[in-house]
Amino acid sequence: MPVPLKPLFDELARANRILAHEGIMDAFGHVSVRNPDNAARYFLSRAIAPDLVLAGDVREYTLESEPVQQNDERHYIERVIHGEIYKARPDVMAVCHHHAPEILPYAITGTELVPVFLMAASMGQKVPHWDQRTEFGDTNLLVSKPEEGRSLARALGPNWMVIMSRHGATVAGRSLREVMFRTYYSIRNAALLTQAKALGEVKALSVGEIEQSGDTNLQPGQLARAWDYWSQRLEHSEIKSGKKTAGARRSKTPVKSKGRKRK
Ligand code: MN
Repeated sequence: MPVPLKPLFDELARANRILAHEGIMDAFGHVSVRNPDNAARYFLSRAIAPDLVLAGDVREYTLESEPVQQNDERHYIERVIHGEIYKARPDVMAVCHHHAPEILPYAITGTELVPVFLMAASMGQKVPHWDQRTEFGDTNLLVSKPEEGRSLARALGPNWMVIMSRHGATVAGRSLREVMFRTYYSIRNAALLTQAKALGEVKALSVGEIEQSGDTNLQPGQLARAWDYWSQRLEHSEIKSGKKTAGARRSKTPVKSKGRKRK
């Protein structure tokens, strides 16, 4: 592993575990980053549950979603989601795909998801819906073929998040921290919107509020504050559960993928 990439792999692995720890992912879902040194490649874990991902599980893929190191290990079936979005959107540096339960009612009904509180402004003005059935008829609902990934990327268009009918959502960002922030707060927003609709009339953020608040939320200081908070919560939980020794530093996340003990 080239030295400069180690911190990136640690951060990507930690992002996976944060998403699991915060209840956004269970055994399924994945988050990736584009290779900062080679825009034609991206990094994603091999096919394991997000809560189990360590830096040593990170693999490199081409934009055709072929693993750079060919071997017999398992890769995520839906990795074309990542490859096709990186291909279609040169500005995107990180992608997260999840099935968070708060989003699913929107994915099931086709109800519009609009930002309704300040922390969710970074969702942007439009969250398009993509229905795999429209173009592909009956499928197993997995986005596993390149043409399915391309169709999803087209539906995302210039936006930052796309809801996938009867399946989940995919979120894009200009950095890993940005995609984490947008993923987390768009899910919070979905829960709040569902609750608010039961209470009364929903007054969503205005276009101006989305622009101004979105910019504020995505300042590096804000992103770092959120990241550090999720990171600390994860660390406490890992120490408590014995996954990690008290006092162990973030940068010391083990890189070995075999023979480790993780329950
Ligand atoms: Mn999926």
